Amino acid sequence: MDLFEFQGKSLFATVGVPVPAGRVARTPEEARAAAAELGGTVVVKAQVQVGGRGKAGGIKLATNPDEAFARASEILGMDIRGHVVRLVWVEKASEIAAEYYVSFTLDRAARKHLAMVSARGGMDIEAVAVETPDALVRLHVDPVIGLTNWQASELVYRAGLDRDTARKSAAMLQSLYRAFVTLDCDLVEVNPLIKTVGGEIIPLDAKVTLDANAFFRHPEFAAFREAFTPDPIEEMARKRDLNFIKLEGSVGIIGNGAGLVMSTLDLVSLVGGRAANFLDVGGGAGADTIGNALEVLTHDPTVRSVLINIFGGITRCDLVAQGIAEVIATLTLPWPIVVRLDGTNAGEGREILAGITSDRVIPAATMRQAAEQAVALAGVSA
Ligand code: GDP
Ligand code: MN
Repeated sequence: MDLFEFQGKSLFATVGVPVPAGRVARTPEEARAAAAELGGTVVVKAQVQVGGRGKAGGIKLATNPDEAFARASEILGMDIRGHVVRLVWVEKASEIAAEYYVSFTLDRAARKHLAMVSARGGMDIEAVAVETPDALVRLHVDPVIGLTNWQASELVYRAGLDRDTARKSAAMLQSLYRAFVTLDCDLVEVNPLIKTVGGEIIPLDAKVTLDANAFFRHPEFAAFREAFTPDPIEEMARKRDLNFIKLEGSVGIIGNGAGLVMSTLDLVSLVGGRAANFLDVGGGAGADTIGNALEVLTHDPTVRSVLINIFGGITRCDLVAQGIAEVIATLTLPWPIVVRLDGTNAGEGREILAGITSDRVIPAATMRQAAEQAVALAGVSA
């Protein structure tokens, strides 16, 4: 789960990482009040979960409360790469002497944490990685040992951060690493981490991704979970006990068992298509479940065809086919459905499918044929 900058910073503060003082504002009036409370020059920052806010005009300095009101009026409601700004973070302005880049992520292949540090912060780090790869220093951290003093120093020196503040920078890297571990994050990215004119090292931005699987260890995250607005189709699927994840393609997928559904996604890619979703109806799915799954997919306008791939174990193919027949009888489906049934009661299931008169239901003999047909149909009816 991705957090807004202000949420990331507030979590940093709870684990002892110093962050600039700030307030959330939902209206220009609130921004003015926040600026008055903080005093002096403030920065008004758009809170959207997308990078490049600075370049898009979503980050502005204000030297007094009235200016903060004006800047917040400009920023609130702004569309930043498809994200509408609903709140701003008003923060005490910092005087920047240098901008660095720091991130901690998981490197699953290496089974370690990966630290990345650069003296070229504040800008597009992807461009730095491509154009001057040596400027982005990488170091694996053993999760059992943690980021040691010498590793933190090595990162600071190899990345070329200022030597006069090297000690503070190394300590900040360790604090941020501790935050990453303590808060069970998948990602902590601070761009920029700054050196102030006064020689302090502070995080000026915070991109934090929490590991939702660790939420049970963090009752203190309850507020984030409430504020979290999931994808409406994912939410609809969750309420129906379906395992659904929205993807970017046009072939809707329904299958039973996570492994089979993932294989189906692979096969769709292999034959040149792209899946619109992952949807696992689970074990023992009956007619209702299939009906629910199809109905959920009707709410996704990107779907052009649907591939139902069932390998019956506990799940009975005849019940699945019956579910499809019931849906066809009651709902006008906006797309064709290719169905592959195998396993328990596959014969009975195929008979039921053969009895469906609608030309929207297309039985397929094998998983591969099913994938090919579904992909072809997604292209044709697009
Ligand atoms: P992003 O563009 O979405 O990554 O947003 P950031 O929070 O990283 O801010 C972008 C840039 O705005 C930073 O790299 C800074 O140059 C500038 N900025 C942000 N906060 C301050 C501040 O307190 N003072 C000054 N002078 N500049 C700031
Ligand atoms: Mn940034």
